[in-house]
Amino acid sequence: MDSIGVLITCPMSDYLEQQLQKRFNLFKLWTHTSDSDFLKNNSNSIQALVGNTKIGADAELIDSLPKLEIVSSYSVGLDKIDLRKCEEKGIRVTNTPDVLTDDVADAAIGLVLAVTRRVCECDRFVRSGLWKKCDFGLGTKFSGKSVGIVGLGRIGSAIAKRAQAFGCVISYYSRSEKPETNYKYYSSIIDLAANCHILFVACALTEETHHIVNREVIDALGPKGILINIGRGPHIDEPELVSALLEGRLGGAGLDVFENEPEVPEHLLVLENVVLLPHVGSDTVETSEAMADLVINNLEAHFLKKPLLTPVI
Ligand code: NAP
Repeated sequence: MDSIGVLITCPMSDYLEQQLQKRFNLFKLWTHTSDSDFLKNNSNSIQALVGNTKIGADAELIDSLPKLEIVSSYSVGLDKIDLRKCEEKGIRVTNTPDVLTDDVADAAIGLVLAVTRRVCECDRFVRSGLWKKCDFGLGTKFSGKSVGIVGLGRIGSAIAKRAQAFGCVISYYSRSEKPETNYKYYSSIIDLAANCHILFVACALTEETHHIVNREVIDALGPKGILINIGRGPHIDEPELVSALLEGRLGGAGLDVFENEPEVPEHLLVLENVVLLPHVGSDTVETSEAMADLVINNLEAHFLKKPLLTPVI
């Protein structure tokens, strides 16, 4: 397979690059000074593309690769891939579901514990020496709280399972009810937010879920409510989130993802009731390797004309 040209759009994992290099003719887009010059000279050699949550496969990139057969995404989310364009052109698409579910759910629980028990604030308190002068103060209990989940898919369900172990009562909002669960279903996200203390956002990013958490949802969650976003930044209307936090209309937030990441609104940087992560939901050694293996196994299956492991298209 070493004559097959594979283009990787940006740095993702050393392991993935090494494994791709061993098997294919690997092109690294970021190592070239001009994307357009690189594509002009090499577009006919590229049959596969590996993208991620930063740079996927938009219409322009897809159109510039006339021999492209497959996009193998190093992510489960498909929001950075122009799926319509791929479908039109008969380009196959794969992603990395399941292998990252546990890590992302763990990170969501980590975020809610960090916000409610003020873990990062506590850490800063000890490091700064303030403990020698005064006591820290109280946090908020997580165990037993009512939890709402937006998007009861793989990750949403894994968060629910974990929250249940904390004695939480689980409700959810999705496009359809999941009768196989005994969680309470709300057909309106506003009703869900009004009836829970902690709202986890774990749905896919689509046109419909862009700003699914708007001012109304935030106000329904209320001044004691906590919002955890482990999905994608654009799920939340970020200026509305910032003003609700500044005005005390929302109790706190734990965010792994941001609307214009890696840019983060300055106000969030100084708020103590907010915990910020640099989009690391699935970033563990174990899972990044499993994701890389899945990317490669999908590519190999495609070029060996075998069934794809995790096909999207
Ligand atoms: P999944 O199993 O496909 O679940 C996605 C869920 O989104 C489904 O339950 C779906 O529920 C729901 N959904 C889709 N459109 C909706 C809408 N209009 N309104 C309400 N719910 C909607 O995917 P997953 O593996 O759990 O991953 C979920 C998302 O997590 C990914 O798409 C990705 O963006 C994000 N993610 C983030 C990280 C990170 O590092 N922070 C890592 C991995 C994934 P219904 O079909 O019932 O509506």
